[in-house]
Amino acid sequence: MSLIRTKNLTRIYHLGEREIPALQGVSLEIDAGQMVALRGRSGSGKTTLLNCISGLDRPTSGRVWLDGEEVTAFNEQERVDLRRRMLGFIFQSHALLPIYSAAENIDFVLRLAGWTRAERKVRTTEVLELVGLKAWMNHRPFELSGGQQQRISIARALAAKPQIVLADEPTGELDAVTSEQVLQMFQRFAHSEKTTILVATHDMMVDEYADEVLYLQDGRILERQKLR
Ligand code: ADP
Ligand code: MG
Repeated sequence: MSLIRTKNLTRIYHLGEREIPALQGVSLEIDAGQMVALRGRSGSGKTTLLNCISGLDRPTSGRVWLDGEEVTAFNEQERVDLRRRMLGFIFQSHALLPIYSAAENIDFVLRLAGWTRAERKVRTTEVLELVGLKAWMNHRPFELSGGQQQRISIARALAAKPQIVLADEPTGELDAVTSEQVLQMFQRFAHSEKTTILVATHDMMVDEYADEVLYLQDGRILERQKLR
């Protein structure tokens, strides 16, 4: 069974009299433990697709299943619960809480996911080690470089052991060397932690690391390419 499945997703935005078809019938299936890149130009529908998959947005029509559960049939509370249980998020601007230290940012999501204090302490150290930033655990975001902040947000997204991590332009604000490190990290986590990572990006470098690439154009999947 596919971990992520969508059938005929459409999403139409209404801007006054205008209708903007952001997704025009997207059907896809993604297996567990894969790093999948969602590539396409700005405006091709990448963010809309991620948001419809995560339940942050509702498609105009079509259905989404995550691990066999139909998310599009859920009510708002069920979708919130599902996100906490099953999903991790990484955004272009890392969205760390500025008044919290690196460790507290991670502790916070674990608390939301219902982990005990003792479990949180162990796991926070573990994920900070995974991204090579344990020495920075007591620092606040503004004391870290952009690349370090993004690595903290990766640690945070992985902390609660989500089955799926959705990353929207995660390297958008990073230099080429740091971008490559981040993509390398995704590949490693997808394979070692058996996490499915879906990365929306217009960065071609992602092809070096992804198991598969989906090309999006005008809200449709134009091509699907298995890379390894
Ligand atoms: P991408 O992430 O690939 O840049 P988006 O999913 O953000 O693409 O956008 C797809 C299309 O939907 C674009 O034409 C965009 O202008 C439009 N769009 C996205 N969000 C909104 C919105 N909230 N209201 C109206 N149009 C939107
Ligand atoms: Mg986008």
